Amino acid sequence: MNANFLQTPIEYLKGVGPNRADLLKKELGVHTFQDLLNLFPNRYLDRTQYYKIGQLQKTNAEIQIIGKITHLKTVQQKRGKRLVATFTDETGKMELVWFRGHKWIKENLKINVPYVIFGKTNWYNGVFSMPHPEMELLEAHEKGIRSVMQPVYPSTEKLSNSGITNRVVNGLMQQLFLEAKNGFAESLSKPFLDQLKLFPKSEALFNIHFPKNQALLARAQYRLKFEELFFIQLQLIRKNLIHKTKIKGYSFQKVGEYFNTFYKEHLPFQLTNAQKRVIKEIRNDLGSKAQMNRLLQGDVGSGKTIVALLSMLIALDNGFQACLMAPTEILSVQHYTGLIDLCKELNTSIEILTGSTKTSKRKEIHENLENGTLDILIGTHALLEDKVKFKNLGLAIIDEQHRFGVAQRSKLWHKNEYPPHILVMTATPIPRTLAMSVYGDLDISVIDELPPGRKDIKTVHRFDTNRLKVFRFLKDEISKGRQVYIVYPLIQESEALDYKDLMDGYESIVREFPLPKYQVSIVHGKMKPADKDFEMNRFAKGETHIMVATTVIEVGVDVPNASVMVIESAERFGLSQLHQLRGRVGRGAEQSYCILMTSYKLSADARTRLETMVRTNDGFEISEVDLKLRGPGDIMGTQQSGVLNLRIADIVKDTEILKIARSYATQLLKNDPSLSNAENLPIKNTFAQLAKYKNIWNYIS
Ligand code: ADP
Ligand code: MG
Repeated sequence: MNANFLQTPIEYLKGVGPNRADLLKKELGVHTFQDLLNLFPNRYLDRTQYYKIGQLQKTNAEIQIIGKITHLKTVQQKRGKRLVATFTDETGKMELVWFRGHKWIKENLKINVPYVIFGKTNWYNGVFSMPHPEMELLEAHEKGIRSVMQPVYPSTEKLSNSGITNRVVNGLMQQLFLEAKNGFAESLSKPFLDQLKLFPKSEALFNIHFPKNQALLARAQYRLKFEELFFIQLQLIRKNLIHKTKIKGYSFQKVGEYFNTFYKEHLPFQLTNAQKRVIKEIRNDLGSKAQMNRLLQGDVGSGKTIVALLSMLIALDNGFQACLMAPTEILSVQHYTGLIDLCKELNTSIEILTGSTKTSKRKEIHENLENGTLDILIGTHALLEDKVKFKNLGLAIIDEQHRFGVAQRSKLWHKNEYPPHILVMTATPIPRTLAMSVYGDLDISVIDELPPGRKDIKTVHRFDTNRLKVFRFLKDEISKGRQVYIVYPLIQESEALDYKDLMDGYESIVREFPLPKYQVSIVHGKMKPADKDFEMNRFAKGETHIMVATTVIEVGVDVPNASVMVIESAERFGLSQLHQLRGRVGRGAEQSYCILMTSYKLSADARTRLETMVRTNDGFEISEVDLKLRGPGDIMGTQQSGVLNLRIADIVKDTEILKIARSYATQLLKNDPSLSNAENLPIKNTFAQLAKYKNIWNYIS
């Protein structure tokens, strides 16, 4: 078949014409034959049976009935009118009702001619009715491609009001298949089809639109889902490979003085196997001639900082500078003091730059960066200012990628002549399958092991009515020398109320834990940064027993002596946030606890979140549940949800297919990078088509 056939504008399909074409384009994005072919049904209705009006049951099933319209009338109602038809068969009468699109219906409906109607029935005052039924003349119904299952296509109100009903779309689809006489070009290679026992393309397309039974439909869906995910992975993996060959990076050939001395003499603990593996992966990247672009995922407390330091030391060993960027001032300071401590025996110069760095200090840092006497710079967004110019930045590490947009990343990127190697660290585990799709073009390292001796944090769910018991428990822990966090939710939409809750809570806690025996700190977003830091420091030094806070402590702070995390109104937090908060405790050797406080009123989702937290400490497991509850768009944020705009596959449900598709794509590019083997020609052609006609491929940037 002529490859251009599918690129024919939709108005050239018999039965479309300029008006319908306009609507199809605007409402469904169907511009070409190809687009129509790829308009897959949302669901299927089983139309194997015909029901009699006299035997209708009060169910909500969608059913079909054969009968005739005997009468049509317009009924005035409070708002607008409704159009009511009397529909009869040999067993009884019912009503068909329309609330819109009256003109088109009146002009087109035939009286006393047999129709097949289809839809849900309502029952009211002894009469069955069917609102907005799908209708087809019995004669046409009998002639159509006989599909037992009825596909239901995406639609809009405008379309159905203009007479482009599901039946019409179905008819257009039949027309398209009639015109595409020789079927549709294969897009996968023969070995794939054989190995995976996939339907050929034509068979898959036919059965997705006109399935005869569930089994055929299932095979058609599998094949098309595989294909969709396969080509996305192929694109992403290829992008990654091209990046590696095209984007030159500094090659850090040696591991020298800094790294070796630190590793042999100053490492404060034995690295976990996961840390060792990840450092090896990073070393490999840094030593190759390509620019590193790596995402490091590791749960809270998994020990990403030491990996960051060792990576930066490799940069230093090769005569380059490194920087570490964190989302908040508190975190930056913590990294800074931590690294200064770790490096105290090494001859490295480390500085910190944040919004509150004094002008004179700032100037000094700028100078030392440019003349190269400064080795490592740590800081916040302040690192991205134009004035900050490195002599030779070799490695940029970004902690908590969620807070930085891609634009900011590329800004760092363009700081010097060659792009520095980039390592993005995140403590928010992203389900592997989602990462494969969203970050498929990055290399991913995972620290999937916690340092030894860590005890799981005991997590419990308590209702507000048990508060006194909880307070008693806190007193016990404090008497053992431990410290406690009590966290309140704070969201923009209900900020004023939330502040009131926080302050009320604080007051009741101060009453319950009075001076001089107890010291209580409070930290929230309305405080001046300096006051916040002051309170944080008091808590970190152990001068206060309880830290009452909003989510400001969500990121970063490290107070190993704090062993209890109380989360108030826990039902209002998302899973990943709960997990992050819980990660603030369990950093020392002591048994730690997380207490989730809620009222009795809980939604089903909230219940699932709480149960998940109580059940597991595993961030990846939690992220999988989160993905199921919220869907991929919410998890990744709107800017990335386009990537997940899949036509037929479902990123949550089709993870198995995704894994297979990714492994096939990887293998293929390994064996035949340019896709020039004859058997891979269909893949090469499809790939080229997809790249050319961006309308199908718009979700890949
Ligand atoms: P995160 O991945 O959350 O940034 P950190 O790097 O802050 O984790 O490490 C958490 C704590 O665990 C720190 O106190 C750190 O010193 C300690 N730590 C990291 N790696 C190990 C290890 N291999 N053995 C023992 N303790 C470790
Ligand atoms: Mg960290």
